[in-house]
Amino acid sequence: MKDDTAQRDDLSVGDGLVVSLAYSLRLDDGEEIDNAAGDDPLVYLHGAQNIIPGLERELTGLKIGDARSVTVSPGDAYGEMDPDAFELVPYDAFPGDLELEEGMGLRMVESGTGRQMEAYISELRDDGALLDLNHPLAGETLHFNVEVVGLRRATSEEIAHGHAHSDGHTH
Ligand code: ZN
Repeated sequence: MKDDTAQRDDLSVGDGLVVSLAYSLRLDDGEEIDNAAGDDPLVYLHGAQNIIPGLERELTGLKIGDARSVTVSPGDAYGEMDPDAFELVPYDAFPGDLELEEGMGLRMVESGTGRQMEAYISELRDDGALLDLNHPLAGETLHFNVEVVGLRRATSEEIAHGHAHSDGHTH
C-alpha cells in the first residue's frame, strides 16, 4: 500500500506539478508592483510556460516551505524594450467617445490575424496616437521573493490543457 502523505512531503517543484506560490515582485527602484499572499497564492502548472522562464527555472527543485529571492533579467522575463514596437495610429481609427490619454492601456484586435494585443498610449501627437506595443514590463529586471506554499501532482486534464485548475473548477 502506498503512503500518500509521505509521498506528498517528498514532492519538489518540477514538470507536471501544480505549484502554489506566495510572492512579491519589485522593480529595480524597489517599487512593489505585484504580490500574492500565502492564503491566496498564485497557482500554476510547472513546465507549461505559465510563468516567465527565468522564474520557472529558479523554482525547480524547491519543496513546500522553501523561500527564495530570485532576480530575473529582462531576457528571461518580458523581453528587452523593442524600439520598433511603436505604431502611430490616426485619431479617426479610435471610437469617437473614447477619451485618449498618455499612459492609457488599450486592448486591440490585430486586423487580419484577429490576435488580441495590449498597447499603451506612449504619446499623443498632432497626427495620431503613438502606441507602445511592448509589454509594460519589457526591459525591466524583476526581483521576486517567493515561497512555495503548496505542491500537488497535476491531473491528466490539467496536463492536457496546459494550465492548473483551481479547486472544484474545470473548464
Ligand atoms: Zn483547463
